[in-house]
Amino acid sequence: MKLDVDVLRYLSKDDFRVLTAVELGMRNHEIVPSDLIDRIASLKHGGTYKVLKNLLKHKLLHHDSSKYDGFRLTYLGYDFLAIKTMVNRGVFTAVGRQIGVGKESDIFEVAREDGTVMAMKLHRLGRTSFRAVKTKRDYLRHRSSYNWLYLSRLAALKEYAFMKALEEHGFPVPNAVDCNRHCVVMSLIQGYPLVQVKQLQNPETVFDTIIGLVVHLAEHGLIHCDFNEFNIMIDDDEKVTMIDFPQMVSVSHRNAQMYFDRDIECIFKFFGKRFNLSFEERSDDVDDSEVETEESGRPTFSSITKTAGFLDKELAASGFTTKDQDDIQKFIEGNVAEDDVSDNEHESESCQTNIKGFDSLNLDQEEPTSSCNEEGQIDENQHSPEAGQSGDPESQNSSNEEEDNQNADDAQLMKSLAKQRRRAMAAARKGRKNIASRNSYKDKGGKSSNSSKIQKQLSSW
Ligand code: ADP
Ligand code: MG
Repeated sequence: MKLDVDVLRYLSKDDFRVLTAVELGMRNHEIVPSDLIDRIASLKHGGTYKVLKNLLKHKLLHHDSSKYDGFRLTYLGYDFLAIKTMVNRGVFTAVGRQIGVGKESDIFEVAREDGTVMAMKLHRLGRTSFRAVKTKRDYLRHRSSYNWLYLSRLAALKEYAFMKALEEHGFPVPNAVDCNRHCVVMSLIQGYPLVQVKQLQNPETVFDTIIGLVVHLAEHGLIHCDFNEFNIMIDDDEKVTMIDFPQMVSVSHRNAQMYFDRDIECIFKFFGKRFNLSFEERSDDVDDSEVETEESGRPTFSSITKTAGFLDKELAASGFTTKDQDDIQKFIEGNVAEDDVSDNEHESESCQTNIKGFDSLNLDQEEPTSSCNEEGQIDENQHSPEAGQSGDPESQNSSNEEEDNQNADDAQLMKSLAKQRRRAMAAARKGRKNIASRNSYKDKGGKSSNSSKIQKQLSSW
């Protein structure tokens, strides 16, 4: 998908005011009646209809006159609102090429003025299964806000909150930079999804680390629920980073055991198949971990000492509530049952937005975000309700004390991972393959084909 942000530069204050009015109207209407948009926007000099026409031309809105004359936001319209907020907050100044297309997201490179490149994930819940969203909507019809906008925003907030909390506990995740609407900005991982890796120098070590992460997550009261080769990134030094958190559940979830076993099974299967690791026999005497394993070497969920609610404080700090968790869980669980997306759909694709690689966004920094008051009027100089869950980028500048804590956490995590590694080493002893060298990665992310400017930035990390 091409995210043509060029248009953004030419949109006026009134354009954004009307776009925001549609967004606000969508809290109560799937299709927002044109006269309501006009009332909410209440442009000083009128002309809402002309603006609507312009937004329609740029595909930021969709027109629907089946029941009454009205409009709804398109994903692109929602993208623009989030991007504009991010630019106004100074999170980034330019949008670059697409680096990933997930099952329900699009991932782009974004850059700061100083050239730092980050990743922006735009959530698109319901993209692969609009039918599922519709079904969910039926039983959630008492909540008209339960639409893709709401779901995508929840998914982004959840992802941001979990990423931040996990990072604070020393887990190898991207650095969560900021979140607005359905958009999460995070550090760019210099690596490849494991699915693209054909050979590893140390498959056992990588395997142990990964299994160790699943166990360590459970000890922290969490299950990833989509822990597979698509959501594990690995760099040239075979350092592992886990990504993609909107579907995580607590270990107290009624299906926790099943989710945990499924995560473990995915990893065992993948490593068995791709790297020929065999797990049939394991020796417990080399291992001092308290986590028991089955005969097959798989850690058993019941033997893990779990601390449910461990991350609650951090999650709450990001504005992610229990109710948010319930809402998104209802959707995800329904979706999992209906969704039968093939693995291939996870694969990354690349597409470049322009020759220079980045579209710089010289937007009006003074532009206020707006919110709607009781009468449906937009209040200038206030953050929109959608913009309310911002993360504070400044909080990312950790103090020395925080760094010390982080180091302590890291040490603890490394210790725990080493424990897990020893276990899995034993499990993997049999059938081990002597791999002297690794293949070059299959670079589906298009990194090699990118402009030299970005390439330089990438290789300097
Ligand atoms: P989805 O939820 O749609 O599966 P993911 O978060 O798994 O989305 O991201 C899809 C793909 O985008 C990943 O497989 C990876 O290639 C790329 N990607 C996601 N986050 C990052 C990141 N922080 N740095 C680099 N690439 C990323
Ligand atoms: Mg994914």
